[in-house]
Amino acid sequence: MILSLRGRQAAPPRSCLQCGTEPARPDATICRRCGLRIGDPPSASATLPSCPLCYKTVDDDGRLDSLANSSLRVDILSHIAEHDRFPVGDDEFLESMRRGDRIRIGRWDAPFDVVRRYLVTGAVEAGRNRAMQHNAVVTAMAQIGRWGSDTPVIGDQPEWREARAAVTSLMERYHFRRA
Ligand SMILES: [Zn+2]
Ligand SMILES: [Zn+2]
Repeated sequence: MILSLRGRQAAPPRSCLQCGTEPARPDATICRRCGLRIGDPPSASATLPSCPLCYKTVDDDGRLDSLANSSLRVDILSHIAEHDRFPVGDDEFLESMRRGDRIRIGRWDAPFDVVRRYLVTGAVEAGRNRAMQHNAVVTAMAQIGRWGSDTPVIGDQPEWREARAAVTSLMERYHFRRA
């Protein structure tokens, strides 16, 4: 065990700390993708790997706090594996509403990735994409993000209200934990 960020213990990495690639062989010492020695801290200029499930990016030491043990620091692949026991939400349910790269919500649909990211992080990035800005679900997510789900919206429209209710119940359903 090596001491890592904030004095925590660092678990032996399963992947390159800089790019998150898993070594081709267990005895490999150099990352085949970025050339860094396995276990070495990332360079300051590197784009660090993010978790596709909770969207967190590793810290400067190339690791995240373990979900199972808060005194332990783990690499990205170990972190992703921990989601088996510590799921972000009910992704099985969410996948059942998926149609290709879209998700069906009530009488609307929206890009699946945008909706899932919103359910996990509470943030929606419609950016300058006009189609996204005019999507009822995306509008509802942005409104809830800005004002919460209970505040009356100025110039409110029945369709927005309905879409907000659909998004709010989806959020509750996604994070519902079966006892
Ligand atoms: Zn690498
Ligand atoms: Zn994660």
